[in-house]
Amino acid sequence: MAPGTGPRVVVLGAGVVGAACARHLADGGARVRVLDPGAGRAAGSWAAAGILSPSHPERLPDHVHALAARSLELWDDLAARAPQVELRRPGVTVLGGDPAWRDWREARGLPVEEVLWTRADGSAEPAMRFPGVGLVRPPRAAGALLGGITVEARPAPPLEELRARADVVVVATGAWAAAHLAEAGLDLPVAPRRGQMLLFDRGRLGTILMEPVNEGVAVPRADGRVVAGTTMEDAGFAAATVAEDLDRLERWARGAIPGLGARIDAWAGFRPWSPVPAPTIGEVAPGVVAAVGHFRNGILLAPATGELVADLVLGRPPRVPAAPFAPAAAG
Ligand SMILES: Cc1cc2nc3c(=O)[nH]c(=O)nc-3n(C[C@H](O)[C@H](O)[C@H](O)COP(=O)(O)OP(=O)(O)OC[C@H]3O[C@@H](n4cnc5c(N)ncnc54)[C@H](O)[C@@H]3O)c2cc1C
Repeated sequence: MAPGTGPRVVVLGAGVVGAACARHLADGGARVRVLDPGAGRAAGSWAAAGILSPSHPERLPDHVHALAARSLELWDDLAARAPQVELRRPGVTVLGGDPAWRDWREARGLPVEEVLWTRADGSAEPAMRFPGVGLVRPPRAAGALLGGITVEARPAPPLEELRARADVVVVATGAWAAAHLAEAGLDLPVAPRRGQMLLFDRGRLGTILMEPVNEGVAVPRADGRVVAGTTMEDAGFAAATVAEDLDRLERWARGAIPGLGARIDAWAGFRPWSPVPAPTIGEVAPGVVAAVGHFRNGILLAPATGELVADLVLGRPPRVPAAPFAPAAAG
């Protein structure tokens, strides 16, 4: 399809999922508009750690892993075009180990190493290392995907109104999606799960670090800063951080990471939880397509989600089997 000659599509939401949908639709020839009033750092896509792997892969169905595998290829393509996303592969080190994750990797022939991690006080702790796991810088991802596509800074009018002026509306509004899906007749209670994060000005961290028993996760940024967190809370749309939670997360990070510098920032954002252990991607009603419910893995899954939405809207054979993601499978 020649550029700008395809269907008129309105994408609701300019987080990483909406941006990926807009990118793949525009590249496929659709005439795309993107609407988003802006959620700032409360958007999952701003707040995330940016790890390109689920931390509980054994809990996810195979079709999500198929989507993830395609996404990793697309992340490589995007990083080649847009190096500002800072794609790196520092691997994951899990303090205390994670037998379920180890078993999942070993069953697929992926490397697993037994290592010792040196904590801030110099003591050594047994850990498992999963080499090759990637990382990006989330606040830069949606912008890189959008490229030159403009975001209209306003909330969505009623779907009916949008449908009168567009061939297809794509709902990609993250934790805010339930109301839009309900307008289209789908009762899928997507809801926010808050995660709080901290930024430190330095730290000796050459790996993604996790400690499941303390819910601790830390990632090294390319500029030497360290992002650490996180919480998993059902706090509605309350986007404020909580001092006691931040202090607890900081104590964990200071114990686990050598050379941690000053805490210089903190934020909280919303994961789009859904009762289905997979994103819901596909036609909800005539001319309304959902790309929702990416929960803990939306940074990982966004590029292939965008491609799948474009495949469905433009009538191309999907690169990843579409049926398991269909709204009917979620209902
Ligand atoms: C602390 C934390 C850590 C995370 N770590 C990781 C990780 O390491 N790896 C990973 O893969 N995932 C991670 N995630 C999950 C990931 O961030 C999300 O799954 C992903 O960002 C969801 O993207 P989205 O575009 O669907 O939603 P969002 O990024 O939330 O975007 C939704 C957009 O919809 C907009 N919107 C809302 N209402 C309307 C409206 N009425 N009209 C138009 N637009 C509207 C909002 O303004 C927002 O910009 C993490 C999340 C959190 C909170």
